[in-house]
Amino acid sequence: MSVNNISQPDKEIVVGIDLGTTNSLVAFLKEGRPVVLQSREGRALLPSVVSFVSGHPEVGFKAKKNKVRDVQHTVFSVKRLLGRDFSDLKAIAKDLPFELVSGDGVIKIRVDNSEYSVIEISAMILKELKRTAEEALNCSVTKAVITVPAYFNDSQRQATRAAGRIAGFDVLRIINEPTAASLAYGLDQKKQGLIAVYDLGGGTFDVSILRLKEGIFEVLATNGDTRLGGDDLDLALARVFALEIQNKTGVDPFLNPVFQAALLEAAEAAKVELSEKESCQISVQLGPDHYQRVVTIQEFEKLIAPILDRTSEPCLAALRDAGIEAKDLTDVVLVGGPTRLDAVQNQAQTVFHRIPNVSMHPDEVVAQGAAIQADILSGNNSQLLLLDVVPLSLGIETYGGILSPLIDRNTRIPALAKEIFTTFMDYQTAVDIHVLQGEREKVEDNRSLARFKFPVHPAVAGTARVEVKFLVDADGILQVSARDLRTGAEQTVEVSPSYGLTEAEIQAILKASAENAPKDAAYRQWVAVKNDAEPALRAAEKKLPDAFRLLSEGEVKVIEGCILGLKTAIHSESPTEIQNSLYSLNESTKKLADLLLKEVLSTNSRR
Ligand code: ADP
Ligand code: MG
Repeated sequence: MSVNNISQPDKEIVVGIDLGTTNSLVAFLKEGRPVVLQSREGRALLPSVVSFVSGHPEVGFKAKKNKVRDVQHTVFSVKRLLGRDFSDLKAIAKDLPFELVSGDGVIKIRVDNSEYSVIEISAMILKELKRTAEEALNCSVTKAVITVPAYFNDSQRQATRAAGRIAGFDVLRIINEPTAASLAYGLDQKKQGLIAVYDLGGGTFDVSILRLKEGIFEVLATNGDTRLGGDDLDLALARVFALEIQNKTGVDPFLNPVFQAALLEAAEAAKVELSEKESCQISVQLGPDHYQRVVTIQEFEKLIAPILDRTSEPCLAALRDAGIEAKDLTDVVLVGGPTRLDAVQNQAQTVFHRIPNVSMHPDEVVAQGAAIQADILSGNNSQLLLLDVVPLSLGIETYGGILSPLIDRNTRIPALAKEIFTTFMDYQTAVDIHVLQGEREKVEDNRSLARFKFPVHPAVAGTARVEVKFLVDADGILQVSARDLRTGAEQTVEVSPSYGLTEAEIQAILKASAENAPKDAAYRQWVAVKNDAEPALRAAEKKLPDAFRLLSEGEVKVIEGCILGLKTAIHSESPTEIQNSLYSLNESTKKLADLLLKEVLSTNSRR
């Protein structure tokens, strides 16, 4: 539902914003119901496109038109770049025609002689939404809730927040898009049970499994594909057109960016029409040539079937992660423009074995849900709670190069985990806290998020007590702190990785983790026995003078032999060999340990 010109003079307004890759919207809650605010031109959707035709930025529909007319000056899909590092660019940049440059350590977009950061461009879109809201509500609007894809990591969430701040918003909360959508569905229908949110947007696919219970929304699992959406359907169709044109003229029209954009635009229009009709007529002027043709729904559906099929695996993975089967679902809700297509609805129905719920406006639900969350944060609705999950396990490196997870993947946020660690060497002056993200055993197979040295009071190995605390806040941002429990000294770092993980990368990590599970388990076992063996070895060496004092020469020789045996075993990398040698060493020192204990006891009793 969309409205315009609503005055709300008495109450401070908090708006909900869907900052989409393709389209952005702003909504707010009016008398308990979310409404999307319209621009002066009467439009609810704002294309997330910025063009710099006459030097200054133009946002929205006009800019989107310039995508065809003026490719050089038009910037779009910047959300793909938000909060990303240069190392992530290779995968993304080839989809984007504009020039990306490095400036002050961040990705910038060059338009003519000016460079704009991705955050600045996002802020321009948000500023436009702010203007829309202020005009529609006839008051100043400064507080907002902004949605992000569920797979957005800490750095991407922080970049979104920063864009909001630059646009003049106080960003009260960053929430996941599927969570917002489920909130919108839940409020309207008061459903209880398990639901799947299938969100196919312009360039991204997101699936979430949620549990709704007594007004509480809990996200059980999320999955998706960051490079899959309505744009791919346009591209597939436009390629068909291009091939036909090339067969006739001998020239590939995609070589001309203006023609390519015109064909993409025609393909998109055809797609939208085919969501309501059996066939449509397209007509494109390419320079002096005119291309026209009929597209039938059968042809289109056949063409896009393999693309839509790619949504199935993430859905199945999400079900697996949530620990449920499709038959357990009580509802499947669809979100995003392309879900208007029957073919998409059928795809969702096939994977979830359930007729999807299409009762909500698929383009507006995310903004509506954000508006509901905004209302909750303004204190108007206290019964609803939102719970999200962390997409990959978070932990620290422990001795031997092993990842020790503190927060497991798919743990609900906000999440807090504490664990006590100790030193491994005598008189260590600091511990190295290496924060990692991933599912593998070996440190090097995971992603390093942060690293800091935490000073500890020097003491014998194993006596220092360092409490490491991980806190993932409601926005999904991780804070790591370390505290020396003996001295009370504390150090905290906010983990803001400058590199983001795409959903595809997350999937690759999970896949690698499953494939390498036996190898990783063996490695962990080796490290574990080695970690047992090394202190035992040091202790035995330390006691050798006592051995000479208390044992026979033969007995000492046995111990020395066992020490040597264990040293060799540690280098062998065979857990069994280490374990056996450790056992022999322990056996050989038993008598010595007994004698030493007796000495200590008799000294004590004499005191
Ligand atoms: P995002 O979340 O990425 O910003 P949206 O949910 O707004 O994206 O979806 C944008 C996509 O939806 C575009 O690819 C657009 O062409 C497509 N779309 C919009 N309306 C329709 C429709 N009626 N039928 C099919 N696709 C549509
Ligand atoms: Mg969206």
